[in-house]
Amino acid sequence: MKGDLKIFNTIVDKLLIAEKETPVVEYIEAAKLHDRIDLSLSNEAMKEDDFQDLLEDLILTTPRTSSKLFFNQLFGGRKGKAVLGDLLAVMLNNSMYTYKVGGPQVGVEKSIINKLCEMVGYGKEGNGTFPSGGSMSNLMAMIMARDAHDPKIKLEGTSKKLIVYTSKASHYSTPKNAAMMGIGRNNVRFVNTNSEGELLPDHLEELILTDLEMGNTPFYVNLTAGTTVLGAYDSIPPVSTICKRYNLWLHVDGAYGGGVIFSKKYKHLLKGIEEADSFSVNAHKMLGTPLTCSIVLTKHSQQLYDSFSNDAEYLYQTDGDDYNLGKISMQCGRRNDALKFWTLWKSVGTETLEKYVDHQFYLAEVAREYIRNHPDYTLYSFDDSISICFNYKGIDANELCTLMYEESEIMVGFGKFRDDEFIRFVTINSENEKEDILNFFSKLEAFVEQSVQLAPTSLT
Ligand SMILES: *Cc1c(COP(=O)(O)O)cnc(C)c1O
Repeated sequence: MKGDLKIFNTIVDKLLIAEKETPVVEYIEAAKLHDRIDLSLSNEAMKEDDFQDLLEDLILTTPRTSSKLFFNQLFGGRKGKAVLGDLLAVMLNNSMYTYKVGGPQVGVEKSIINKLCEMVGYGKEGNGTFPSGGSMSNLMAMIMARDAHDPKIKLEGTSKKLIVYTSKASHYSTPKNAAMMGIGRNNVRFVNTNSEGELLPDHLEELILTDLEMGNTPFYVNLTAGTTVLGAYDSIPPVSTICKRYNLWLHVDGAYGGGVIFSKKYKHLLKGIEEADSFSVNAHKMLGTPLTCSIVLTKHSQQLYDSFSNDAEYLYQTDGDDYNLGKISMQCGRRNDALKFWTLWKSVGTETLEKYVDHQFYLAEVAREYIRNHPDYTLYSFDDSISICFNYKGIDANELCTLMYEESEIMVGFGKFRDDEFIRFVTINSENEKEDILNFFSKLEAFVEQSVQLAPTSLT
């Protein structure tokens, strides 16, 4: 073990240097991957030196998601204290289903859940868990909603036509989860959004009324706090009123933007969250924790238990249900995703998490201001979002992003809202500074300037 930890340190030292010197790793075409690195598995053991060289090569040819030129996804950066927690979780290798096996780690998870419930306004009635991702958080919410609507369904199934509502700008996991639950993709209603990508409550109510007239069974509304492309926040209070009127479960998917719960300045974007039946947030997005760290909370702790508990004599042998977290989770064996968030939070304090969040909005403001002051750019996104959507000189966003990736310049993605396609630049890495944001734009401009491929054909 000690030898392997030495290898770990050696490779990580090199990785940290490589990230600084070459923030975007050399592109390897997928079709040529297996020629470039020998990933095949064989009968015989490898010579130790050869193995170490190969492993180092594999690590150093992998995309560098913590570097200062990675803006491709809704995560980025690396917080040392969170990494420390995750490494220790691997060393401990607990499973979070029982107190007998998880011990104090169960307390770590419960402490985060309780604190978040308090911050959201669910108080002592609330509870929650760490599912394996934001998509699974949303699935758990949908399952609780179904069981709250009709507790017999989990025993007998149903022939009722259950209907789900979510906005056109919401994450794809909602229709996917509806498919997996047997509700059916065709029974997901996509509510229109306004020009800023926020769900229109009036249209939601119209759709509900139409379904009721048709004899369908509405049961679940999903709102998004931070839509995946524009970063828009759906307004909670009017939708909460509608949900109460028709007795529907309201879930707020804050996988991306739910981190604003930590910010005095931005938590107004979640105004009314205490009225929602459930809320999810990915600490691996705005809150600087490594993948995966997803949390789903509900204000109906009994519903969480009723939907997910199973008796299992071979598993639950000691301590009360309160500390046997397998009774409220989807998985049986479950990774300790809580420790890394706890080591970060405990060491830096809530105020610093708030600073991380506020800093991301500050960087977004820097980016928007740059775009507004430079006429070659078109801005497509709005204030109070850390997704900055833009085009440069009318160049096709897909083409530009792909070329910058293939030529190892910048990792950034593109997205679409209505008829517009644009670059989606995400300022979620709170280790970046103003200069890093400005550097992104100057690199992009220099790239376009020298690019033979882009210049003659695509410029408008
Ligand atoms: C990222 C995201 C998800 C999915 O979370 P995963 O952890 O990637 O499964 C769900 N909803 C929204 C709004 C997201 O941005």
